[in-house]
Amino acid sequence: MEKRKLVIIGSGPAGFTAAIYAARANLKPLLYEGFFSGPAGGQLMTTTDVENFPGFPEGISGPDLMQAFRAQAVRFGTEILTEDVKEVDFSTPPFTIIGSKTQVQADSVIIATGATAKRLEIPGTGDGEFWQKGVTACAVCDGAMPIFRDKELYVVGGGDTAMEEALFLTKYGSKVFLVHRRDELRASKIMAQRAIEHPKIEVLYDSVISKVEGDNVVRCVTVQNVKTKQEQKRDAGGLFFAIGHQPNTGFLNGQLSTHDNGYLNVTPGGTQTSVEGVFGAGDVYDYVYRQAVSAAGSGCMAALDAERWLTLKGLL
Ligand SMILES: Cc1cc2nc3c(=O)[nH]c(=O)nc-3n(C[C@H](O)[C@H](O)[C@H](O)COP(=O)(O)OP(=O)(O)OC[C@H]3O[C@@H](n4cnc5c(N)ncnc54)[C@H](O)[C@@H]3O)c2cc1C
Repeated sequence: MEKRKLVIIGSGPAGFTAAIYAARANLKPLLYEGFFSGPAGGQLMTTTDVENFPGFPEGISGPDLMQAFRAQAVRFGTEILTEDVKEVDFSTPPFTIIGSKTQVQADSVIIATGATAKRLEIPGTGDGEFWQKGVTACAVCDGAMPIFRDKELYVVGGGDTAMEEALFLTKYGSKVFLVHRRDELRASKIMAQRAIEHPKIEVLYDSVISKVEGDNVVRCVTVQNVKTKQEQKRDAGGLFFAIGHQPNTGFLNGQLSTHDNGYLNVTPGGTQTSVEGVFGAGDVYDYVYRQAVSAAGSGCMAALDAERWLTLKGLL
C-alpha cells in the first residue's frame, strides 16, 4: 500500500490551508476533498458573497475564494483525490485511510472535515428556492449584507446560538423575531434574558415557520402556532437557521476523543487530537468561532504541528 508522510481529509479553508503549508514544507500531502460528503471546497461553496475574508476589500464569492485556495494548494504540489474517506485505522502507525476508491497509509493525518449547518425542510428554503437569497444559516457571516438592512428578520432556534444570532442581527434589522417551537427557551438563563430584554427582539413561542416566499429575495414568512395551528403571513427580509451544526466525524468511528457535542477534542491552543500524529483543523473541532479565517488559521497550525511531529519522530 502506498505510504504518505501526510494525508489531509477535507477541502474547506482549513484543509486547503494545511495543504499549502505542508506542500511548501515538502511533505507532498495527499488531500481527500470529498465527493458525496459535501461540496468539495466546503461550506463556502454554498454561499454567495464572502465579505469578511481579509484581502478582498470588495468581497469575493464563496466558490471563487475556494477555487483560489485549491489552486494555491495544487501550485505547491498537493495531490488531490475527489473522493470521500469512508474509514480510518488509527490503532497503530502508520495510519490507514480508506477512501471510496483508494487506500493509503500515512505517518500523520490532518482531519479538516468541517461541520454541516443544520437546516429545516421548510417550503421555500431549499437550494434553488430562497437559500442564500435571504435564507441562511450564519448570521455572523451574512447578517451585514444589504438585503437584511432595516428589515424584519426571523431567527429559528431556542438555544444559545439562536440568542447570539438574534442579538447580532439587532445591529442590522429593524426587528428580530426569535421563532421557537416550545413555550420556553433552551438557552442559558443569561443569554435568554439578554435576548428577551432587548427592545428589538420579540420571541414567538410555540411557533414554527411553515413557508417562505418572495420574488428574487425573501419577502415574507408564514408563522404557524403549533398549539392552535393558526397561520399568519408576515413581511420578512430574512430567515436565519440557528439550530446547530453537525461536525463531520462519522467516518472516524469513535477512534478520536470528542466533546459531548461531537466536536473533536484537540489540545488547548493547539491541534493535536487524542492520537499522536493525528491533528484537527477548522470547524470539525471549533464550535466557538466557526469562520473561514479561523478555520484557515488552524489549518496552518495543524500543518506546522504535523511537520514538527514528523521531525521529532525522525519521519522526515
Ligand atoms: C451559508 C454559509 C455562509 C458562510 N459564510 C461565511 C462568511 O461569509 N465568512 C466566514 O468567515 N465564514 C462563513 N461561513 C462559515 C465557514 O464556511 C466555515 O467556518 C468554514 O468553511 C469552515 O472551514 P473548514 O475547512 O473547517 O470546513 P468546511 O468548509 O466545512 O469543509 C470541510 C470539507 O470536508 C469535506 N469532507 C467532509 N467529510 C469528508 C470525508 N469523509 N472525506 C473527505 N472529505 C470530507 C467536505 O466535503 C468539505 O469539503 C459560512 C458558512 C455557511 C454554512
